Amino acid sequence: MLSEELQRDIRQATQIIRSARHICCLTGAGISAESGIPTFRGDGGLWNGKRPEELATPEAFNQNPQEVWAFYLARRRKLKTVKPNPGHHALVTIEQNANKFTLITQNVDGLHATAGSQNVICLHGDILIDRCTHCHHQRRVKLDPDEHKNTNSDKIPHCPLCNAIMRPGVVWFGESLPPEAIQSAHSAATDCDVMLVVGTSAVVQPAASFATWAKSNHATLIEINPESTPLTHETDLHIPLKSAQALSKIATPQA
Ligand code: NAD
Ligand code: ZN
Repeated sequence: MLSEELQRDIRQATQIIRSARHICCLTGAGISAESGIPTFRGDGGLWNGKRPEELATPEAFNQNPQEVWAFYLARRRKLKTVKPNPGHHALVTIEQNANKFTLITQNVDGLHATAGSQNVICLHGDILIDRCTHCHHQRRVKLDPDEHKNTNSDKIPHCPLCNAIMRPGVVWFGESLPPEAIQSAHSAATDCDVMLVVGTSAVVQPAASFATWAKSNHATLIEINPESTPLTHETDLHIPLKSAQALSKIATPQA
């Protein structure tokens, strides 16, 4: 049973979202946590004793592509067993009922699209894309549920066009974001009147800056995160709950 204060905050968030002209939602790893995908900064974020920030960099890839690929291939294999959770589904409902809705995600797991979200900007790329380090050819890989775990599972992919080594189609720490993604996210953050920030530690830039930017353009800022973040003191409403519970209640108020 939620406290009176939380129930009131959820009612208020529901009203703000219902009457919004343009809702922009910024999501991070926390929204996928309840699907079983570890966040980078939470428990279970370590991989072979290393922090993801040590592996998700161009330097790490140049030094040891095998190890970096092993990290990403393990995350791809994990995707075969995960599904969108009620938080992802609630955002689909919110989008369907909204006048205008833009989802900006830092996640690379594709779960928003799988759930059925339509207007999604993937700021940090897509873990199912391979990109050639030489000719930049891209291809989308299919998750094969029947693939045996150990069959060539950690083999580095090579480009079908030029045979150079390929890399995961994600944005690594220290790399620039795709300009089109920045441009679309910036426009949405400028135009929106409600900015809903869900499950992000708000420390990765420029992603977090879209929330601050929206606020400085007079959007109402609502944060859903069991923990406080550097954004919390700027928010109009901080709902300290897990995203599946909070978003389900906001999307379908009787839930
Ligand atoms: P983060 O790991 O830095 O922070 C996760 C945040 O989610 C924390 O603030 C935590 O309190 C919150 N959280 C945890 N469980 C939650 C829940 N059930 N409901 C709501 N909030 C919850 O993640 P970030 O801010 O997205 O930044 C990390 C970077 O790592 C991003 O650039 C992203 O690309 C990448 N990443 C992506 C995935 C993914 O695609 N699923 C997973 C891990 C990391
Ligand atoms: Zn190539």
